[in-house]
Amino acid sequence: KGERLRLPPWLKTEIPIGKNYNKLKNTLRDLNLHTVCEEARCPNIGECWGGGEHGTATATIMLMGDTCTRGCRFCSVKTARQPSPLDPDEPYNTAKAIAAWGLDYVVLTSVDRDDIADGGAEHFAKTVSNLKERNSQIMVECLTPDFRGDLAAVEKIAQSGLDVYAHNVETVRELQRHVRDPRANIDQSLNVLRHAKAVRPDILTKTSIMLGLGETDRQIYNTLTGTHTHTHTHTHTHTHTHTQRLGETDRQIYNTLTELREAGVDCLTLGQYMQPTKRHLKVEEYVTPERFVHWEEVGKEMGFVYTASGPLVRSSYKAGEFFLKNLLE
Ligand code: SF4
Ligand code: SF4
Repeated sequence: KGERLRLPPWLKTEIPIGKNYNKLKNTLRDLNLHTVCEEARCPNIGECWGGGEHGTATATIMLMGDTCTRGCRFCSVKTARQPSPLDPDEPYNTAKAIAAWGLDYVVLTSVDRDDIADGGAEHFAKTVSNLKERNSQIMVECLTPDFRGDLAAVEKIAQSGLDVYAHNVETVRELQRHVRDPRANIDQSLNVLRHAKAVRPDILTKTSIMLGLGETDRQIYNTLTGTHTHTHTHTHTHTHTHTQRLGETDRQIYNTLTELREAGVDCLTLGQYMQPTKRHLKVEEYVTPERFVHWEEVGKEMGFVYTASGPLVRSSYKAGEFFLKNLLE
């Protein structure tokens, strides 16, 4: 205990750089856009910006500033109770810059702004509608906060003209309190996703889960099986049936995926949690590529429209590629 796990070889691989990458990189300078891709030093930038085999360049843009009112234990974003007020021109300027940049698929995301009455929903929605007015071809995904369960805020964004409504549950049900800010919880998050789908059944909903935070999988099990009886010091006798722990532990992830399907979630991504600094939650496990393949297969069997699962997969990882592939199939 206390030792940090060593980085396994599958996380040290070089990721290819697609052909659009340099073009986007060079034109970004003048646009004053804050990309999560660059600021979080995301390892997938060459692939996402480069566009992959279909040439669909994807990037993630951060709205509403760089300071969050929450403090999730896996996240390195700065925290304050009262971040700077919103820039009223941001929805217009950002939309203009994105439309000029040459993306095929954009993910708009934000910090949580619990200090603002509607959590910034109006601001988000205005950015989408401005962007779609300028460029109706661009596919837009919003990766939103939970708005403390304010469904009117969710609805405002779902009706803004976006193509994909994303909100991340981040981890399995059992680890919510351990991983996320106490103001977040999985039922609130499932309500957000369910409501987005209810008001706009024609858009896709999407969520993300990080693995390696200590959620149990079948690698961690003991082989206790069968039935045994024991007698307590007082008078009664108990019969315990032990189901195989294999099934039991496997279900933390499985059950969360089941709940997501029940909430009508269409798209799922699973990736390895990486500790951003020493002050953040430690990586409990580097989940093997084989287990990620397993979860991708489970996702498909459960009926998710697409499941992206792999050690380096991030919420927005090559989102444009997946979206296009899914439309073409
Ligand atoms: Fe980070 Fe989002 Fe949590 Fe804020 S709400 S600390 S941005 S994960
Ligand atoms: Fe950007 Fe997301 Fe792709 Fe990373 S995975 S490069 S943050 S779009």
